[in-house]
Amino acid sequence: MILHENKTFLAYRCPHCGTGVIGLCGTFALGGGRLFRLRCACGESNMSVCETADHKIRLSVPCLLCRTDHHYVLSPSLFFGKELFLLNCTYSDLDICFIGTEEKIRAALRENEATLRRMFQDAGLAALSRARTNTDPPLPDTEILDILRFLVRDLEEEGRIDCPCHNGDYEIAVSEEGISVRCRNCGARFLFPVDSVSAAQAFLSCDSLTLQDPDNHTP
Ligand SMILES: [Zn+2]
Ligand SMILES: [Zn+2]
Ligand SMILES: [Zn+2]
Repeated sequence: MILHENKTFLAYRCPHCGTGVIGLCGTFALGGGRLFRLRCACGESNMSVCETADHKIRLSVPCLLCRTDHHYVLSPSLFFGKELFLLNCTYSDLDICFIGTEEKIRAALRENEATLRRMFQDAGLAALSRARTNTDPPLPDTEILDILRFLVRDLEEEGRIDCPCHNGDYEIAVSEEGISVRCRNCGARFLFPVDSVSAAQAFLSCDSLTLQDPDNHTP
């Protein structure tokens, strides 16, 4: 008897750091009731796959928006047989699990990133206008911070943040003046004032950021 191993690539987006995590899952990894786990390098999330008693494939996928796992059961022919198969969050319609060939999955993840960026920009603006009706303190809520972290990470991954040292490792800091993106290496920063909605809007929809040395302002 010849055993042929079915394999497929899988991906999900880590709710903690926003990374698209890709892995390869095969029938051998699921044999004998074993649980296959695909983990994000940040260590904060994983998706799991196992075979049910009636030989279906059960998936547990972290959802970026609901902050909880969603569960799906698929037939093996669907799981292993498609060039691209997407599973969405039923509450938001956002695709959260990508199954198929590596090439198709990477393309779908890129598309998903663009969708998320638009959703987060809209959500960020809505959260900011809500925050604005609260007069004091002007500090942003965690929802806005999460959105900003995602956007900064997105810009950083695509090499669209620059600073005087050009080799930045960027972080987000919150102060009374607002939210700033700061280079851990040279200290340059970009300040996003929390009390200005137009500045917030500009920040949320920007395509690139140039950080400046805070002691050396050019008007
Ligand atoms: Zn992660
Ligand atoms: Zn969800
Ligand atoms: Zn720098």
